[in-house]
Amino acid sequence: MKTQIRKLYSILSVKSGLTKMMRKINKHEGAIIFVGHQVNETNDNRLEPLPPKYLDEQIAYLKKHFQFLSLSKLLECYEFNQPIPPKTVVLTFDDGFRDNYTYAFPILQKYGVTATIFLTTGCIDSGEFPWSQRLGYMITNTTVKTIHLPQYQIFQFNLESETNKTYVFRTLAKVLSETPFIEREQLLNQFQQVFQVIPPKDRMLTWDMIQEMKQNGFEFGGHTVSHPHLTKIPPQEAKQEIRNCLETIRLKLGVENPPFAFPAGKSNDDLVEYVKLIGFRSCFRSSYKRRYNTLSNSNPFRLSRLGLPNAPAIFLEAEVDGLLYWVRKSVQK
Ligand SMILES: [Zn+2]
Repeated sequence: MKTQIRKLYSILSVKSGLTKMMRKINKHEGAIIFVGHQVNETNDNRLEPLPPKYLDEQIAYLKKHFQFLSLSKLLECYEFNQPIPPKTVVLTFDDGFRDNYTYAFPILQKYGVTATIFLTTGCIDSGEFPWSQRLGYMITNTTVKTIHLPQYQIFQFNLESETNKTYVFRTLAKVLSETPFIEREQLLNQFQQVFQVIPPKDRMLTWDMIQEMKQNGFEFGGHTVSHPHLTKIPPQEAKQEIRNCLETIRLKLGVENPPFAFPAGKSNDDLVEYVKLIGFRSCFRSSYKRRYNTLSNSNPFRLSRLGLPNAPAIFLEAEVDGLLYWVRKSVQK
């Protein structure tokens, strides 16, 4: 329903000429930082991807009306207190999916644009999806008809309907999001038996792909080792995830102070302090939701991002040049 309203709103605001008119008024002071995740058409793990053709349209739109800046250049503006050029957009992707190399990389190269990719380093090393996609892949691809997991409030479930599959996914994903690494891996192995599906191990970027993209101007940051929701696991383990991720990036890419992104945006003040203390250069705080990052409303450790819609460019156009942002802002007040 929400998607339908948003779709209708996007079509109306673009087709009526509203966004075109607002584009002339909007000063776009500060940087809009976008985040994407999977870029493909398969949709095989219950976490919706951005189809490559929509990414292409969106980049074409942004290229026409904004100017792209790399995340490191934006950070320099903060670090040297220099003005952020107007109409700045910064592109980022989280997790490190292989489709970022297969689909996003050639599209961005076509437009002469680069991005920063936040790597889940343990998944890059193993080739395995982060846990949520692993779970989603098993549930999407299982041919098992019924399951019985009463310890997780799943009693005799028929998996033939998509609604039931979604319910099972959400219920188990919540359990996994609150479980430390070793137990989480044990649970995933148990689920592998239950669903009788082995998730693929070739869906993440390889270090060679990362090097190639890096040589072509892409930047890389940290996104933990195993993608836990850091505020939900013991603090010591959360810090270990952050520290080990930084060490791997330093070792593999020779970047001493990379940026950091919290998995699922789950952060707190203590973890942000730690990220800063051990040598990350920046991080995002999803709790500070805003469209523009300016020198006065932000700093490198409280930047805000907007999601790239998994939809045609008019959704993006309505987001950056329509009234949606103002409506959301007034609702949030
Ligand atoms: Zn992530």
